[in-house]
Amino acid sequence: IFRGLSRFRKVQTTSTLITRRYASSRTKLYINGEFIESRTNKWIPLHNPATNELITEVPEPIQEELDAAAVASQEAFLTWRESSILTRQRFLLDLQHLIRENTDRIAKAITEEQGKTIPDAKGDVFRGLQVVENACGVTNLMMGDNLEVSRDMDTYTIREPLGVTAGICPFNFPAMIPLWMFPLAIATGNTMIVKPSERDPGAMMILAELTKEAGLPNGVLNVVHGSVDTVNYLIDNETIKAISFVGSDKAGKYIHSRGTAKGKRVQANLAAKNHGVIMPDANKNHTLNSLSGAAFGAAGQRCMALSTAIFVGETKKWLPELIERASKLKVTGGLEPDADLGPLISPQAKQRVETLIQSGVDEGADLVLDGRNPQVPDKYKNGNFVGPTILVNVKPHMECYKQEIFGPVLVCLFVDSLNEAIELINKNPYGNGTAIFTNSGSNARYFTSNIGAGQVGINVPIPVPLPMFSFTGNRESIRGDINFYGKSGLQFYTQTKTVTSLWRHEDVNDNISTVTMPTMR
Ligand code: NAD
Repeated sequence: IFRGLSRFRKVQTTSTLITRRYASSRTKLYINGEFIESRTNKWIPLHNPATNELITEVPEPIQEELDAAAVASQEAFLTWRESSILTRQRFLLDLQHLIRENTDRIAKAITEEQGKTIPDAKGDVFRGLQVVENACGVTNLMMGDNLEVSRDMDTYTIREPLGVTAGICPFNFPAMIPLWMFPLAIATGNTMIVKPSERDPGAMMILAELTKEAGLPNGVLNVVHGSVDTVNYLIDNETIKAISFVGSDKAGKYIHSRGTAKGKRVQANLAAKNHGVIMPDANKNHTLNSLSGAAFGAAGQRCMALSTAIFVGETKKWLPELIERASKLKVTGGLEPDADLGPLISPQAKQRVETLIQSGVDEGADLVLDGRNPQVPDKYKNGNFVGPTILVNVKPHMECYKQEIFGPVLVCLFVDSLNEAIELINKNPYGNGTAIFTNSGSNARYFTSNIGAGQVGINVPIPVPLPMFSFTGNRESIRGDINFYGKSGLQFYTQTKTVTSLWRHEDVNDNISTVTMPTMR
């Protein structure tokens, strides 16, 4: 049953445009400044994860539509790269204002399509908005180096855009992750084709409308949909010079290897298994609150979820209090004001999480809190809900430890010392983020120096760096050399030209040519 009523019609004002688009049963493509309905006959149904009602259908675009996006991006690049950096900055300033104004609407679209609670969806928008705010400083960020290397001779660097870039996004942060990509790509003079997740493209469609309202010229940002075929097109198209990817291991490794083989720059953030270490000298209340928020918030569907707890020494005695806190969390539709966690993205995700919970039990772990089949209000009885779940006495060989569960499941291990905890974490292939809870500066310092994770929290459960820094995953959680956003992001979307110039004041009368390397005397 389509909840939508009328088909999309082009209308005058942006706000009506948004309302009408949401009443439509089909998600549009955004090509060369126009929202168009795909002519494909392949449509991906998108269901509200809280009810499994059909919300919209997402197209797998036909080749001609993808070509149109690539051509529009390439043509727009020729003029956009010539635009003044102040023009680009002004666009970003207007965009950040519009995103701020439209936060509630974007958040609602996220909750309907992705399932997370409204406060969490607002956080999704806000963390992306921070990247836009940071990109507003592009005038300073783009400054190069300059040195007078000898009399009359200067060397300086210029950052130049790459051309057409592409962004391929996951479902779990439908606003934040596109915003990690296109604002910086555009600020630095590139154009971008974004492919949001086919499971929740609504937030990106609103963002596209806001870029139009902020005055972004046609073709600088294009949005296409679909899954593997569209991704293959973006990898293989020769006009596309760089790909930003965030998502699962399998897709990321594939895109990185196929993309780099085609000579493209590829940055890829992949899966995670983040551990939190609980030291006996930690503040108990703060630690337990942090753990339950970071393990179960957003139904565990965060790449920085703290999904593995390592209790050191006697801290295992804190478990009953953790179970109590976790069992009080309200599981219901994300639009409900009292919701602490909403549903998983799909029935398949729900089934996978339930199977992993059972595998833990079968392999000998103790299920001390079972969130399978939670009580939810009647209107959500068809939703993909799993409640907070805690498995203890988990061992590293178990599937529930080896795999990223991506659900509200905390696996707990017990060790006797900080060194044992560090050894355990460093043996895990993933290195996205980690946290330590302690009141000892020396424990924290020792942990930070010896841990193989890209983001470390000290009494901070989800240490996602702010955008003046970069998102610095490590080991199997990343492919490519240059991180997302911050200084690294800028580096990813630009190439440096180094100019050495000689402007002699006196006349040059040297008639002798030389065949040796010039030296700076
Ligand atoms: P996903 O890999 O299934 O999808 C991501 C994108 O890749 C989508 O746009 C999808 O259409 C495309 N895709 C999927 N399979 C593909 C294939 N075989 N070939 C080509 N393209 C393909 O990921 P997801 O389930 O949407 O997102 C969840 C994953 O993303 C988790 O593993 C999570 O840890 C990870 N993630 C990582 C970070 C990070 O910064 N490290 C941030 C968010 C999410």
